[in-house]
Amino acid sequence: MHELSIATAIVEQAGEIARADGSDRVSSVTVRVGELAGVVPDALHFAFEVAREGTPLAGARLVVEPVTARAWCGGCAEEFTLGMPPFFWCPHCDRPSQELRSGRELEITGVEAVL
Ligand SMILES: [Zn+2]
Repeated sequence: MHELSIATAIVEQAGEIARADGSDRVSSVTVRVGELAGVVPDALHFAFEVAREGTPLAGARLVVEPVTARAWCGGCAEEFTLGMPPFFWCPHCDRPSQELRSGRELEITGVEAVL
């Protein structure tokens, strides 16, 4: 399962961030996940519960912040939402756009360490 390797990476990175703060326990970790990141939030939550076992994140909560996929239309100088499944077509001027502005995020944005 691909989410398990992602969850393992999140657990390792969050543990390192907490250690840098002088803590060996994490109470919660927040990640931003874009619609196009290829991650299923439910699967990520499940994988996180497995990956956190026996780590400083054993009691930690995983908070997933979904990020809407948006593209840029040069013609309208505006962003538009791609929707699901993603449709790279500006709804305002009816033209295609491949300029993705958001939606591929997969990053830790917050780690709460227990001091
Ligand atoms: Zn447009």
